[in-house]
Amino acid sequence: MKIVIIEDNPTNMKLAADVLKRSGYEVIEAFDADAGIALIRQHLPPLVLMDIQLPGMDGLTAARLLKGDEKTAHIKIVALTAFAMIGDRERFLEAGCDGYVSKPIRYKELLETVRSALEGQAPVNGAPSQSESEGW
Ligand code: MN
Repeated sequence: MKIVIIEDNPTNMKLAADVLKRSGYEVIEAFDADAGIALIRQHLPPLVLMDIQLPGMDGLTAARLLKGDEKTAHIKIVALTAFAMIGDRERFLEAGCDGYVSKPIRYKELLETVRSALEGQAPVNGAPSQSESEGW
């Protein structure tokens, strides 16, 4: 199963790519949104791991673009970001993201969120729960 990762930080890219490859996914790497969107349109992967802070077009703009295009609207998007702040969850959902992983990347959290998004369930981190204070 293909996953496109859009991430400009080489260390985070390597970490995320290694985790997903070890779990059997085929990883396609892009270091900015323009390159990533081109690869997504070419490969039509079931899921994209999208860094939010990118040079040029940011990840939320790219997510909106993908979700607004009927050819790519079905593709699950897991946001990857360092700023896990109050209100971000809503911003990510509004932009069409299906899940969220905060940096530093923890391999178990990354895999669980990717798997949940692929199964079409509410992602672990994004699931509404009684412990909403834990949030994203
Ligand atoms: Mn970045």
